[in-house]
Amino acid sequence: MASTSNITQAMNNITLDDEEEGGIAFDIGEGGVNAGVDNNKDTKLCPVGRFLVDGVIDFVAMKQTLAALWRPGRGVYIREVEPNLYLFQFYHEVDIKRVLEGSPWSFNKKALIISRMQDADVPRGVSLNNIDLWVQVHDLRVGFMTERVLKEVGNYIGVFVESCSKNFHSIWKEYLRVRVSIDVTRPLKRRMKIRSSGAEWFWINFKYENVPTFCFICGIIGHSEKFCSRLFEVPEAEITKPYGVWMRAPLMRQTQLIGSKWLREDGVDGDWKAANDGGSGRNTVRNNLDPRN
Ligand SMILES: [Zn+2]
Repeated sequence: MASTSNITQAMNNITLDDEEEGGIAFDIGEGGVNAGVDNNKDTKLCPVGRFLVDGVIDFVAMKQTLAALWRPGRGVYIREVEPNLYLFQFYHEVDIKRVLEGSPWSFNKKALIISRMQDADVPRGVSLNNIDLWVQVHDLRVGFMTERVLKEVGNYIGVFVESCSKNFHSIWKEYLRVRVSIDVTRPLKRRMKIRSSGAEWFWINFKYENVPTFCFICGIIGHSEKFCSRLFEVPEAEITKPYGVWMRAPLMRQTQLIGSKWLREDGVDGDWKAANDGGSGRNTVRNNLDPRN
């Protein structure tokens, strides 16, 4: 029993000073808000989110709707941290990536802001003011259709995330696409003036794909003009609407077209063969017809 007495002796030698040094830091989060989450999981698989809305969210219906939209291969666990603050635990990077890259998402027309939680974060500490959108950049002149210009333009609209890999696949494009992280507390940008040094200025215009409800009075995402705070500050006769539905990119609609089997999209080079459509003679293609126009 020599070892036991050694331990006892060692413990007796520990003074208060020793105990107060060292220690172990546990990452349990503020107020234990990570309770319910498997702490062995990488918190990077746990984005947090909120909806851009003042009212109440039907939690059960929201969970069902998002799960049906996302169809995550490994499932998702959704927990309400507090009213309108949710933790989404995914179980595979593939699933979380598809969700984050597929934004914007919405439930009952209420936009979801969703962001990855970094290791040190707790759900309440994550800034949820940015939404990633694809923006179409129209009216760029030929010499300006470059990655460098797109990056500058993206950083003017918000924070540049990436540009569309298909931007330069074909010779002529009506517009180029850029993915931008947009601050929902600031008005959307409508257009931008650019030029090359010494040349004349010209305007490029922006159209936002799948943009959630935004206000035509103040240009901010998350409310319509009926609920704009400007209405309480400015007499009705002086209210202007500098923003409009024209900033919304037309919906991409799936349409059945008989010749599409043999039509290439985007002039992609390389291997190509007619899509196997199971002999029906039909295939789906996308077009730019917007049912609302
Ligand atoms: Zn407004």
